[in-house]
Parts: sequence; C-alpha cells; structure tokens
Amino acid sequence: MQFYSTNNKNLRVSFQEAVFNSLPQDKGLYMPENIPTLDPYFIKNIQQYSFQEIAFQIANAIIGDDIPEKDLKAIIEDAINFDAPLRFLSPETAVLELFHGPSYAFKDFGARFMSRVMGYFSKQGDQLLDVLVATSGDTGGAVALGFLGVEGTRVTILYPKGKVSKVQEEQLTTNGQNIRALEVEGTFDDCQALVKQAFNDPELNQKLRLTSANSINIARLIPQTFYYFWAYAQLKSQGMGEVVFTVPSGNFGNIGAGLLAFKMGLPVSHFVAGTNVNDTVPRFLNSGLYEPKASVQTLANAMDVGNPSNWVRIQDLFHNNLSELQGMISSYTYNDEETKKGMDELYEQFKYVACPHTAIAYLASKAYRKDHPGEYASVFLSTAHPCKFPEAISEEVYKEVKLPAGAEKLQGLPKLAEELKVDYVAFKAYLIENN
Ligand SMILES: *Cc1c(COP(=O)(O)O)cnc(C)c1O
Repeated sequence: MQFYSTNNKNLRVSFQEAVFNSLPQDKGLYMPENIPTLDPYFIKNIQQYSFQEIAFQIANAIIGDDIPEKDLKAIIEDAINFDAPLRFLSPETAVLELFHGPSYAFKDFGARFMSRVMGYFSKQGDQLLDVLVATSGDTGGAVALGFLGVEGTRVTILYPKGKVSKVQEEQLTTNGQNIRALEVEGTFDDCQALVKQAFNDPELNQKLRLTSANSINIARLIPQTFYYFWAYAQLKSQGMGEVVFTVPSGNFGNIGAGLLAFKMGLPVSHFVAGTNVNDTVPRFLNSGLYEPKASVQTLANAMDVGNPSNWVRIQDLFHNNLSELQGMISSYTYNDEETKKGMDELYEQFKYVACPHTAIAYLASKAYRKDHPGEYASVFLSTAHPCKFPEAISEEVYKEVKLPAGAEKLQGLPKLAEELKVDYVAFKAYLIENN
C-alpha cells in the first residue's frame, strides 16, 4: 500500500517511509491510497474471532503488502496483548474500556504497534533510532512503555515539570534501559517547541537518526481501528448490531480511526465526538467555518487541543464534504463544571469511576440519545484509567479508585529524570553528549 499526503494526492510514499517520517514535507498527513473494505462475510461472522485475529485481518488489509503475514501476526500478538472489554452500564449503554494496556490509556494501542513496526523496519547495523517526544502526560507514558526494550530504538521524553500527575510521572521516569526522561522547567508548549526545533536542526539530524512518535503517525492510527471492530464483535455476541460510538476527542485521532473503520466496512450508524471547551470541531460542524483557537486548559487535559491535527484526515475521508460529515458525526461540548457532574453521575448511578475524558464521552452519548431516541447500542469510549487524573476527580469518588497492580509497582522506584531549562542549546548539547 502506498500513502499519499492530504495536501497532494500525487505525493506517494511507502508505508515504511510514512512510519519514519510522520509528516509529509508539504505538511499534509499520510493516508492510504485506497481504503480496503473487509470481506462482508468476515464482518457478518466477526463474533467468532478473537481480538488479535480481528486486528490481524484489518492490519493485513491495509499493510499486508509491506509486512509478510507471519511477521505482521507476530507484531500484533506482541503489541495487542491486552483486552478492550465492553462493559454494559444498562441494556442499551456500554463503555468500551481502552485502558487495560501498560500506561492505562488508549494511546497504548497506537504506541505499542508503532514501536514494533519501527523495530521491524530497523535492520541490524542501522544507526540507532532516536525517538523524540513531548508530552502533556498520556502520550509520553504510552510511548515510553511501548518502546521499552525495543531493540534499535532510544526514546527521549520531554515533560513539563509539575504539570503531570503522579502515576503519569512514574510511567515516564522509572524505566531506564532505552528510555530517557527530561523534566522541563516550562509548559507542554515549551516541550513541543524544543522537540520541533530539534527536528528542524540539520546538524543534529546529521548526527542522530531522529524520528517522532507523534499522534499523527499512520502507524498509530491503524491499530486504533482494531478496537472498534472488536467492540462490534462483542455487541454481536450479545445479539446486538446497530451501534453509535461516542469518542472523547482532542486531536481527533481516536475518532478518526473509528471513521476509517467505518469506511472499511464496519457497520456503524453514527459517531459522536465529545469535547471539552476546546470546541474547534463542534463549531466547524455547526458553521462550516474552521477557526482554530489557542488551547484552553481543562480538567480533561489530554483533550486540550485548539487545532486538532487529525481533523484533515477526517475531512479527507469525507471528501471535504460538509454535509456528508454532518450526516455521520455529531458533537457536544462540556465545560469543567459539567464534566465534574458527569463523573459524579457515573459514580452515583452506575458505581463507575471514570476519568474526566470518559465522563465527557458519557455525557455526549447521553445527549445524543436524548436527541435521537431509538433502538441501538450507545457505546462510549473510556480512554484512560481514572488513577491517572486524581486532581480532576472529586475526593469521595477518587477514594473508590483501585490502583492497578502495575501502577502500584512503580511507587517508590527511583526517579530517573534530568532537569532541563527551556533552552534549545542545552537540549541539543544533552542529545549530543549522551549519544
Ligand atoms: C489523547 C487522549 C484523548 C484524546 O484523543 P485524540 O485521539 O487526541 O482525540 C482522550 N482521552 C485521553 C485520556 C487521552 O490520553
């Protein structure tokens, strides 16, 4: 499969090239040159397959020409080694839990798959692959734990000092091996600017083989389609079929993968995007005007994105046709006050403790059903374990959070992080001196 840039359909690259250089030079995003549709017979009988078998069928349809079957199977079995269970809160509403991976967030699917694909394409004798990543919390943990021990790779994570939660920081800073953490005395935007400058530095690129683990990488998008099919398989095994997915959205990569799954033949009636007050896409769906704004800090901080970079992919999937988009995607926006109420309500009504992002999806899913009553399953996606967002959750509810065993194990381990000022010269020196 070749991949084109959303800015120029004539610019085509191989899958390998798209994986190592997330961004085309024209600053578009890579998309598969044709969207394969899955065998309708497979979809009709999907409940007979395991999660890994389903994942393999999807991956094989997209990148089967680029990675031989046996190797692709091994990558999937290694990367997708945790479940995405569907839990019913009521007969018609279920939550798809995507936080059972090593960093307790859905980003594990993308990061684990991408790391193994990069490892696969890195041949013996190649220069060490240096992955640079800036994080506001969740991306860094998924990338660190995804790449941990992957041969031929080294990861450097920049995170803003004092601005990530305890569990998040432990996931970034207790790894050692091929993972390095830099605690930056600044904001997430400062971290991102430092990483960007490094990618644009010719001298550094000559010395090191740099790559980004950015959420726009096509190898992060593909594995996120897997769990939409798996959710559908779980619904079918309960005798249900029609489904509306609600996705808490920031950069729109997660819902973008859902829409890609739909285009590959997954029968989905509708998608709902839940956002915090960073509402660029909801405003666009109402007005047809795409007017990005500076991001605003909220309780659901993994969705504090003012200009969602994956949105162009979704536009591309729908041929830049506004009414086609409006026909398939609805959106609802919630402020912090409402998000808190959503978390409290989930606990009071269902004894379900959710992170703020998940609560936004719950609220949006409920709002959509109110506006569109009918016989279908409402499935909302839970993107992170609540233990990663203690400051966002009310004390009474947080008491009920059980720390997963893996998170407990990290407590008290030595913190391995170097402090860094917001200073590109110092960052570059660090990279060169510690090569
Ligand atoms: C990254 C993240 C999101 C947003 O996902 P996008 O793909 O950027 O829309 C939502 N919730 C959590 C917990 C996240 O870490």
